[in-house]
Amino acid sequence: MSLKFAAGHVRAQISSVFVVTGCFLAVALLLTSLVAHVVATMTRSMNEIDDARAARAAEAGIAAFASRLSATIRDNAVWDDAYKAIGAETAVDWAYTNWGKVSANYPLYDGAIVIGPDGATLSAYAKGKPIQPRDLFGHAFDRQIEAAAGPSQDPIVNFMKTENGITLVASQAIQPYTPGTALPKLSVLSFTKDLTPDVLDILSNEHELEGLHLTLAAEPGSLSWPIKDINGTPIAFLVWPSKAPGTTVLSNVSPYIATAGVILALFLGGVLLAGTSEARRLRHLAETAHFEAGHDSLSGFLNRHGLLNALDDMNASVEAPLSLYLIDLDGFKAVNDAWGHAVGDDLIRIIAQALPSCHPEIFAAARLGGDEFALLQIGHATFGELEKSILALFAQPFKIDGRTIEAGASIGAAIGAGDVPSLELLRRADMALYRAKENGKGRAVGYSSGLDQDRQRIAEMEGMLRHAINSGAIEPAFQPLVSASTGAIVGLEALARWRSPAGSISPEIFIPLAEKSGLIDALGIHMLRTSIACAKNWIGLTLSVNVSPIQLCNPDFAAQVITVLQDFAFDPARLTLEITEGVLITNPDQARRSINQLKSIGIRFALDDFGCGYASIGALRQFGFDRMKIDRSLISSVDDGGNGVDVLRATISLATALGIPVTAEGIETDAQAAILRAAGCDQLQGYMVGKPASADEISRRLFQKDQLIEYVSVQSSQ
Ligand code: C2E
Ligand code: CA
Ligand code: CA
Repeated sequence: MSLKFAAGHVRAQISSVFVVTGCFLAVALLLTSLVAHVVATMTRSMNEIDDARAARAAEAGIAAFASRLSATIRDNAVWDDAYKAIGAETAVDWAYTNWGKVSANYPLYDGAIVIGPDGATLSAYAKGKPIQPRDLFGHAFDRQIEAAAGPSQDPIVNFMKTENGITLVASQAIQPYTPGTALPKLSVLSFTKDLTPDVLDILSNEHELEGLHLTLAAEPGSLSWPIKDINGTPIAFLVWPSKAPGTTVLSNVSPYIATAGVILALFLGGVLLAGTSEARRLRHLAETAHFEAGHDSLSGFLNRHGLLNALDDMNASVEAPLSLYLIDLDGFKAVNDAWGHAVGDDLIRIIAQALPSCHPEIFAAARLGGDEFALLQIGHATFGELEKSILALFAQPFKIDGRTIEAGASIGAAIGAGDVPSLELLRRADMALYRAKENGKGRAVGYSSGLDQDRQRIAEMEGMLRHAINSGAIEPAFQPLVSASTGAIVGLEALARWRSPAGSISPEIFIPLAEKSGLIDALGIHMLRTSIACAKNWIGLTLSVNVSPIQLCNPDFAAQVITVLQDFAFDPARLTLEITEGVLITNPDQARRSINQLKSIGIRFALDDFGCGYASIGALRQFGFDRMKIDRSLISSVDDGGNGVDVLRATISLATALGIPVTAEGIETDAQAAILRAAGCDQLQGYMVGKPASADEISRRLFQKDQLIEYVSVQSSQ
C-alpha cells in the first residue's frame, strides 16, 4: 500500500469515526429533545386540562349557589299566603315572622327584604337584624327590584358588593301560586346570601377547588373566576391555586428523569470519549505509519522514501547549496558473517549515531539499505572537508561487546546541486558511489558528467559485446603450453579475442565488462564451444579454457559444460578449466559443487594467476586443483634479482611435493625458462615458447613441427 493511499485511508477512517460519533450524538440529542418536548407538552396539557376543569367547577359552583337561592326565592315569593299577607295591613309583621326573623339563623339565606310596590322598604333584615338595603347595596339593588317587579315574574339573581363583602341577591315579585287575572304592581321579596368563608368552603369541597378564596382582583399565578354584578362588571374573583397535576406527576417522576438524564449524559460522554479516543488512536496510527514509511527502524534515520521527501522539501525552500553524500560501508558483509547480524546491527547503530554530527553542515541523515547511508549537506563546506570528516569516523576501529571491528567507507557525492530534482540527485550520488567502490575501498568520488559519459560508453560497449558474442566476432586464440623437459607442445590455452570494427579490444577490458553486465555466462560457453571445435582434432593435446568465477557460481554451469562436451564428443580428460582464486573466497560452496561435479567426469582444474592474490597452497589441495599456474608477475620478479627466485622455488617445490604440477606463465626469456624448469615447473607458457595465435596458425605450426596430430582445419571441423 502506498504511503499516500494509507494516509488517505486513515484520514477517511478518522472522518468516518467523527461522522458516526456525530450522528450518534445528534440522534441521541434529537431523541432527548423529543422526549423532553413530549414530557413538557404532557405536563402542560395535564395542567391546562385540570385548570379548565377547575374553572368549569368554579362556574358550576357559582351557578349552583345562585340557583339554590333562586329556588328559595321562588318558593317564598310565589306563594298564595305570602301574596295575601303582604297585601294586608299586617304585612310587616308577617314578613318579619316568616322571613326577617328566619334570616337570623337559616342556611338558605342570610337576609330577607320586602320592597313594597311603591318602592318603600316594607321589611329588611339580615341575620335577624334590621338593615337599610339601599345603603347596603346601592343603586344596583333598585335596578334589581325594578327588574323583578317588571313583567318577567321570574327570580332575578345578581351578586352585589357591600362593605362586608360579596352577597348574592335574589329577587322576585311576591305573587300568587296560581296566576289569575292581571295583577297590580307587586311587592318584591329579596333574599341575600353572603359569600362567606363557610360558603366558599362548601363550594371548595363540592367542586374540588382546594384553597378557594375570594379576592377583589385576580391573583397572578393562581386560577380565578370572576364574580360579576348586575352590569356584568367583575366585582370580585374566586381565586384558587392550580392543582397542576402534570407538574405534580412531573415532580414525582423527576428523579427518574434526572437519573435517565445522567445515564444518557454519561452514555453520550462515553460515546464522545470513545469517538475521540478512536480518532486519536487512528491519528496516532496514521502518524506512526507515516513516520515508519519515511524512516528506518534500526537507525531511526530517514529511509529512501523519507530522504526523497526531505530533498523535495529542501529543494523548494533552501537557498544555500545542497549536497548529497552516499556512504557505503566496506566489509560490512564480512562483519555480519564473522560476528553475526546482532553485532552488524550494533555497528550500524553506532555509525548511525556518529554520522549526523560528523560535520556541522549535515542537515539530515538517511539509511538507504543494509550498509548504505546518506547525508544531506546544506552549506558551503567543500567536498574535501566533508570527505575528511566522514572518513575520520572510520579511522579508529569500533568497539562492540569487547570486540574490535574495523570498518571503512566508500563515499559518492553529488555536490551543490540544489536545483537538481531529488531522484536525479540520488542517481548522481549513486553513480559516484559506484565509481568510488570500483576504485577500491575507502575512496570518495564526487559526481561529474564524465561519470555519465563513462556509463554511457559502458552501456554502448555492453551492446557491442552482446552483439559480438551472438555474431561470433569473439573467437579463441590459442597459446601453447609446452613441456618444460622436452619443449614439445602438450596443450593449448584458449584466450578470447575480440576484433571489433574499432580495432581489437583486450580481454582485460571486455571480460570484466561481461562479468558486470551478466554476459559472462554466454561468453564463457561460446568460448568453450568454439575452442573445443578447434581443438577437437588436435589429438593428444590438452585444451585449457579460462572460466570466470561468476560462471562457476552459476548452478547450471557444470551441466552446460557437459552438454558442450557431449555435442562435440570431446574427451573430458583433455579439458582443463582455469579459474582464479576469487571464487574460492566469494562463494566457496557453489564453486566446490561445480568443481566436484566436473572433476567426476574427468575434467581437470588449474588455479590460474597463483601468486598475485591470496590463494594458499592449502586452498589448492582443499579444492582438488590438478594444476597451478604461477602468475606472470611472479615470473618477471625473477629478473629483479631479489629474493623473488627463492620464493618461486619454495612455492613450486611445495606444490610439487603435494603432487600438484606447476605451469609457469609469461615466460619471455631463456633465463626465465631455465630458472623455472630448474625450480620444478613441468610446463611453460609465454611469448618465448609461443604467443597466442589463431586456430589456423596453430594447426599449421603443429603440422610443420610434425607433431603426431592430424591437421584438420577449423573450417573443415565445423
Ligand atoms: P590469463 O588467463 O592469465 O592469460 C594469460 C595472459 O597473459 C594472456 O593475455 C596472454 O596473452 C598473456 N601472456 C601470455 N604469455 C605472455 C608473456 O610472455 N608476456 C606477456 N606480457 N603476456 C603474456 P590476454 O589474452 O590479454 O588475456 C588476459 C586475461 O583475460 C587472461 O589472463 C584471462 O584471465 C582473461 N581471459 C582471456 N580469455 C578469457 C576467456 O575466454 N574467459 C575468461 N573467463 N577469461 C579470459
Ligand atoms: Ca589462463
Ligand atoms: Ca594467468
